Amino acid sequence: MNWRKELVSSYTRIEDLLSLLELNINQIDPLMSAKTHFPFRVTQAYASRIKPRDPNDPLLLQVLPTNDELVSPQNFSDDPVEEGPLKKNNSLLQKYHGRALLITTGACAINCRYCFRRAFPYQHIIKSKALESAFEQISQDISIKEVILSGGDPLILDDKELKRIFESVHQIKHVERLRIHSRLPIVLPSRLTKRFIKLMRDTPLQTSLVVHVNHPNELDNPTIESLRRCKESGITLLNQSVLLKNINNDTETLIRLSEILFLAGVLPYYMHMLDRVTGSAHFEVSDAEALSLEAQLRAKLPGYLMPTFVREISKMGSKIPLAQV
Ligand SMILES: *Cc1c(COP(=O)(O)O)cnc(C)c1O
Ligand code: SF4
Repeated sequence: MNWRKELVSSYTRIEDLLSLLELNINQIDPLMSAKTHFPFRVTQAYASRIKPRDPNDPLLLQVLPTNDELVSPQNFSDDPVEEGPLKKNNSLLQKYHGRALLITTGACAINCRYCFRRAFPYQHIIKSKALESAFEQISQDISIKEVILSGGDPLILDDKELKRIFESVHQIKHVERLRIHSRLPIVLPSRLTKRFIKLMRDTPLQTSLVVHVNHPNELDNPTIESLRRCKESGITLLNQSVLLKNINNDTETLIRLSEILFLAGVLPYYMHMLDRVTGSAHFEVSDAEALSLEAQLRAKLPGYLMPTFVREISKMGSKIPLAQV
């Protein structure tokens, strides 16, 4: 099956996933999709890694809408990292020196319940004109050396569309690097097509691919193999995770995560503290607990397998190391 077909056959009904996992509704208190504007969505490849009959499976908890989402403390909001400026028909976000982030699509292959863009009004910015005007803005700002494709998930675009974006970026003389932030290589490993790998390798731009894995169980053999193929073609692979309560907030899990990432050819990059988006409060890990986890990891892992624990703070010029928050 090609990846597009596989994508279309994803689970979009909670009942269907529960029936695959032999779970019944009374065991998990799901929030049925009608009550939320952030729909339920999971690929078959990801669903196949969830353990059946375990309502607390760490992969299940990342995707299953539950009534916990209705609890929203005051310090949680729809735009926790203040990306508001993006809404003005503009798909370019430049908060950090030398780097500009381009929103290429609002779609994802999987909807992660803790996503900081879960309430993002993509419809205002996903227009081909917005992309053109973004390239125009980048070409007028010679301080921009790196363009980051984000979303949504940029690998939802097909290889032809990506090729066009790569070419537009390459035409801008002062841009040297192109980075892709995507969860598709994990939740739909077939997306790492030969054509895509060739595209990454052949562009004169310096490329990197930042994937998103939170738990070692997300990395099954087909996923590891497809990441390794990518690495062996010379593509720089990094990982970012979100620290999530009851999912990965324990030392053993995080150690295994770093180790299996390395086995797959991926280096740990960031461990993000949760962005306080409405509906995600039940995932939050306190700063004190995170600092203690960070210290325990540092005591047990080689330096190159240590992700940097960071928090995004509005209006700051970079992500902030947790120890400095
Ligand atoms: C995270 C982020 C980046 C990239 O930051 P790095 O530290 O270079 O990974 C760039 N722009 C925005 C708006 C971001 O949120
Ligand atoms: S943008 Fe990333 S974190 Fe958010 S739903 Fe899509 S894949 Fe998940």
